[in-house]
Amino acid sequence: MSTAAEANRDAVAPSRGLVLVVEDEPAIADVLRLNLRAAGYGVEVVGDGVSALGAIRDLRPSAVVLDIGLPELDGIEVCRRLRARGDWTPVLFVTARDDEVDRIVGLELGADDYVTKPFSPRELVARLTGVLRRTRGDLAGPQMLRSGELTVDLSSHEVRVADREIGLTATEFDLLAHLMRRPGVVFTREQLLSEVWGYAATAGARTVDVHVAQVRAKLGAASPIRTLRSVGYAAERAPRAGDDDRRPRA
Ligand code: CA
Repeated sequence: MSTAAEANRDAVAPSRGLVLVVEDEPAIADVLRLNLRAAGYGVEVVGDGVSALGAIRDLRPSAVVLDIGLPELDGIEVCRRLRARGDWTPVLFVTARDDEVDRIVGLELGADDYVTKPFSPRELVARLTGVLRRTRGDLAGPQMLRSGELTVDLSSHEVRVADREIGLTATEFDLLAHLMRRPGVVFTREQLLSEVWGYAATAGARTVDVHVAQVRAKLGAASPIRTLRSVGYAAERAPRAGDDDRRPRA
C-alpha cells in the first residue's frame, strides 16, 4: 500500500490543504482524487485503515475522507483510534448503509460530517469545504468559545455570562474549555481525567463529577454541559444562527 500511496502523491503544492482519502475501491478513489484536485486540494490516497492511521500521523492532512467499509480495520475504528490518541483532524465519513450512519452519530466520534454512497463528487467536495471552513473557524485566534450567553476567552481566561464575569478555578476553566472546544463530543470521565487533569490513574471519576457540579453551580442556566448517563459529559453545540458576531476583543 505504501507504494501506491507514494505513486499517488501530489507533485504540486496544495493551495487549499492536503486531503487524505481512505478508500479501498480504486474506481471511487480515482473519482475522489480527480474531483478534489480539481477543487484545489492536494490529495493522498490509501486503501486500508492501518495505512490511514500511519498516513494521518506522517502527513498531517487538513482533513480525512474516510470510507467506513474498509478491510480489517474499518473507518469507525480508524476514527476511534485517531481520537483516542488525541488527534482531532477533521473527518468526513463516507458510508454505504444507513446503519453505519446510526453508528457514527451514536458514537459521537467527532466526525464532522458524512456523505452516503452513492454520492455526487460535487456534493462531497462541498461537504468537505464546509467541514474545513467550520474547523478552521474554530481554531482561528483570538480564541473565543461561545454557547448562548456564555463566552470563554482562551487567551485571557475570562468567562462571562452576558456581561457578568464568572470566577472559575484553573481546573474548572480547563474542564469547561476542553468540553466546549469539541461541542457535541461526549467525553468519558476517564478521558477527561487524562486530558484535563493529566493523570488518569490517581484521581477517581468522582473528581470529574465534583468539578462539573461546581462549574454548573457557577454558570447556572448558561452551563452548556450535558450529562450522558453512564457515558460521560459533553458541551451542547453552540447555537449558530445569529451567533456570528466577530467583534474585536477589547
Ligand atoms: Ca469500501
